[in-house]
Amino acid sequence: MPETRPSLATRAIHHGYDARDHQGALNPPVYLSSTFTFDTAEAGGAMFAGQAVGHFYSRISNPTLEALERRIANLEGAEAGLCTASGMGAITSTLWTFLQAGDEVILDKTLYGCTFAFLTHGLPRFGVSVRPVDLSDPANLAEAIGPKTRIVYFETPANPNNRLVDIAAISEIAHRHGAKVVVDNTYATPVLTRPVEHGADIVVHSATKYLSGHGDVIAGLIVGRAEDMQQIRLVGIKDMTGAVMSPLTAMLLLRGIKTLDLRVRAHSAAALTVARALEAHPAVKCVHYPGLDSFPQAGLARRQMAAFGGMIPFEVVGGKAGGIAMMNRLRLIQRAVSLGDAESLIQHPASMTHSTYTPEERAAHGIAEGLVRLSVGLEGVEDILDDLMQALAAHNAEAA
Ligand SMILES: *Cc1c(COP(=O)(O)O)cnc(C)c1O
Repeated sequence: MPETRPSLATRAIHHGYDARDHQGALNPPVYLSSTFTFDTAEAGGAMFAGQAVGHFYSRISNPTLEALERRIANLEGAEAGLCTASGMGAITSTLWTFLQAGDEVILDKTLYGCTFAFLTHGLPRFGVSVRPVDLSDPANLAEAIGPKTRIVYFETPANPNNRLVDIAAISEIAHRHGAKVVVDNTYATPVLTRPVEHGADIVVHSATKYLSGHGDVIAGLIVGRAEDMQQIRLVGIKDMTGAVMSPLTAMLLLRGIKTLDLRVRAHSAAALTVARALEAHPAVKCVHYPGLDSFPQAGLARRQMAAFGGMIPFEVVGGKAGGIAMMNRLRLIQRAVSLGDAESLIQHPASMTHSTYTPEERAAHGIAEGLVRLSVGLEGVEDILDDLMQALAAHNAEAA
């Protein structure tokens, strides 16, 4: 594929904003206004009827959010974007828009805990059937998909174990059956993978993570075709969830996204170094990192990702108790959920982000009880390694 110009790094800083339209302000102004005035009553009516464009109420649209929507759509290679109050707001607003009782959703086996809970514990109460399928093999989708399948939903890499899904192969099968493909691109970000370019219809993000990059907001974003985004805006967000982003949050995200390319490359480079060191350590049982030769889907990772991201799920010798003990010995790496921040963060999915699965569901969905999930931050990589090595050295001594 020819490289697009200007580069993503440049577009992340400039796209869709012209200071000359805003009194020379280098940064987009924050429009803290819930409502917008009409020149005439008729002009207002025309906007409500969809016959005229313009902002009239910030649950529907707002100029600061619009700048962010243009920017994320451009970075993802999509027609249009949408801001939401959280990643879960992006996911639920999208699914409520396109589903009705009698429909079926096919979801990948490994998903972020609250997405899994919404899909498998929430949607069936409203007459939507959900079917978990191992989408790491597209043949499984070809077998499972049917006339009621409206949406095929997955993450790649998946939270928490980094399993990958071949976006192009899955999209091809889904489209043959008239189903939409919705991809959660929180882990990869458009720097590493742009699902729309591989055939996905809709991309959702927890912008709380890498897109913000600084752990200071809860936010979500959606991109896709203009027509789909308009429907999600006017049905899912406006009437069903009301999961609207604040203009202040949009400003913080526009700021964070300026350094997205730089940060994701730095996270990825440091994570590769850390993953290799962990894999070589005798107190470590296994490391699931797409950039390692030992990763079962290393070939797909190289085809679909520009680099391999900052997330390292791994297991230490001694299972869950060993992992928890190791976490408690860390001094620099912070024990916290979330990911993609400047600070290195570590958590235990089975008791934290993926405690929404029952132990049986975790076993069936490939989420090991002993797994710990490291989000490699932007500290000096030697300091991150030092911290892990001291925690693992004590682990060795304990096991001996
Ligand atoms: C955190 C996360 C979400 C949920 O996003 P919020 O912003 O916390 O609502 C969804 N998907 C993935 C992959 C996540 O990591």
